[in-house]
Amino acid sequence: MSEQMKNIPIMKPWIGEAEADAARRPILTGWVTQGPEVTAFEQEFATYLGAPYACAVSNCTTALHLALLAVGVKPGDEVITVSHSFIATANSIRYCGATPVFVDIEPQTFNINPLLIEAAISPRTRAILVVHQMGMPCNLKAILEIAHQYSLPVIEDAACAIGSEILWDGQWEKIGKPHGDIACFSFHPRKIITTGDGGMLTTSNPEWDKQFRLWRQHSMSVPDTVRHGAKQVIFESYPILGYNYRMTDIQAAVGREQLKRLPEIVEHRRFLAKRYQQLLADVSGLKLPTEPAWAHSNWQSYCVRLPAECNQQQVMQTMLDAGISTRRGIMCSHREQAYVHEAWSCGIAQEKCDCNAGRCDRLWESEQAQDCTILLPLFHQMTPEEQNYVVKVLKQALI
Ligand SMILES: *Cc1c(COP(=O)(O)O)cnc(C)c1O
Repeated sequence: MSEQMKNIPIMKPWIGEAEADAARRPILTGWVTQGPEVTAFEQEFATYLGAPYACAVSNCTTALHLALLAVGVKPGDEVITVSHSFIATANSIRYCGATPVFVDIEPQTFNINPLLIEAAISPRTRAILVVHQMGMPCNLKAILEIAHQYSLPVIEDAACAIGSEILWDGQWEKIGKPHGDIACFSFHPRKIITTGDGGMLTTSNPEWDKQFRLWRQHSMSVPDTVRHGAKQVIFESYPILGYNYRMTDIQAAVGREQLKRLPEIVEHRRFLAKRYQQLLADVSGLKLPTEPAWAHSNWQSYCVRLPAECNQQQVMQTMLDAGISTRRGIMCSHREQAYVHEAWSCGIAQEKCDCNAGRCDRLWESEQAQDCTILLPLFHQMTPEEQNYVVKVLKQALI
């Protein structure tokens, strides 16, 4: 075993000289917060996705918050979503004073099960917040059909899904076009491309786009960029409550370089995922992730379901002892302390459901996914030798 073999991270951003050079630009002009680099990044991101409007913000959590506000989520409302997601998904609903209503997932894709949505709709339901978990597109066709029937807006948590594609009327289209009403992306280093932290909202609705731009900068009527170049004195005003959810120009300059790398990153992740598929195909009891016929994942995470008799923590420890970082399956928000009984519902109003003690019968697949799966290392610079080593150690750990 060579030395490099002994430290394989779960993820490593592909970032370097080009991004370092780009970060110099705003620093040397002196305009370091939201300015011309942010505008350029938004335009380039929108072009890449084929989205009419893209608005940059400080991260995906703030993007989700603004998306929910835009579609009118208010205190007392309910928003249908999944528990099986990073906690920011559910938190964004609570920021609006609304209650997350958790629907279980499909075990194959780890995404919301469209068949369970209708039963969770109540007179208080204001929106549906779906997740493209680990970059795998959720079943938007089926979800939108239900949403349209009940006139509910659909927000896509596409934090992990930059570069993922969905078959739409016979054409492969990028996630975030958007197919729902608003899509939200993350540029955290654990995602596909990074700006350190950062987020983006895409929509086809110009009014919402305008609203995002106001909210993200304190709802200031005349932005600093305009006042800066003005020949006459202008006073700004603040007609409504706003937020500081800006992306900086330093981040955007980095993001523009990352965007250039994106097609290559996605292509290579697909290659590595396919290679995992081939190398692990013969491991008995191990369930590998598969794409529905209408989905192209960017493989933000490669999630395998362990054979029933395996101890998840033990497998992960064996791999860590061999220098390989893994992660357990995606978390379930309803099992966290921050989610006491009042803060969420599993959509069953009348029936008694023991869903307060870190478990809920109706979220069984979500809990199984958290407890019985692990995420394997997958990053752009990963070599075939490193991947072979991960496979070898995993096979040993399963014996
Ligand atoms: C990472 C992630 C978020 C939060 O993204 P940030 O940019 O870190 O705020 C939200 N939802 C999902 C599904 C995520 O994976």
